[in-house]
Amino acid sequence: MKFGFDIDDTLINLRQHAFHLYNEKLNENKSIEQFHAIQTVEIHEIFGLNQEQGNAMWTRLMPAIYFTDCPPFEGALTLLNELNDKGHDVFYITSRPKKYCVQTKDWMMAAGFPVADGHFFCGMQDDEKIMTIRDLALDYYFDDKPAVLETLGNTKTAVYIVDQSYNKQVEGQRITSWSDFHKSLKI
Ligand SMILES: [Mg+2]
Repeated sequence: MKFGFDIDDTLINLRQHAFHLYNEKLNENKSIEQFHAIQTVEIHEIFGLNQEQGNAMWTRLMPAIYFTDCPPFEGALTLLNELNDKGHDVFYITSRPKKYCVQTKDWMMAAGFPVADGHFFCGMQDDEKIMTIRDLALDYYFDDKPAVLETLGNTKTAVYIVDQSYNKQVEGQRITSWSDFHKSLKI
């Protein structure tokens, strides 16, 4: 079987990691409850930043957000390694900026994710992911972002939404725990 995964906020807890970095850099002390209440993909608003300031902050902190110690979600590493060990294809499809793609692939491998040659796709726009998903003829695809999920309605691929505060309005099969999904998956 062919399994495709988005990375940020699908396999790794990137927004929360960024939230902690924002607290640190802005000398703030916003609580994790405030973080969980954010209804947008972007996290800048609770720090009193407007869109432009928020974008600038994210861009400035990108290397730290991407390449420090962002934790994988519980159960994600075990699932992907088992899929790989059992001979399934594990693909990554991320819209991280092109200039960070090589380092992202290296970071994923260092974090313990199985990354086979030719199985890492990076640097496309959100609405371009569908082309890769179709070209690969994936059996399964997993993502958190409404802007991506909304483009995947007419694929043969089984699409799963990784549950987040900002995607509750998207209809479809939902994953709240990789461990639970792992147990339910007959592979
Ligand atoms: Mg994502």
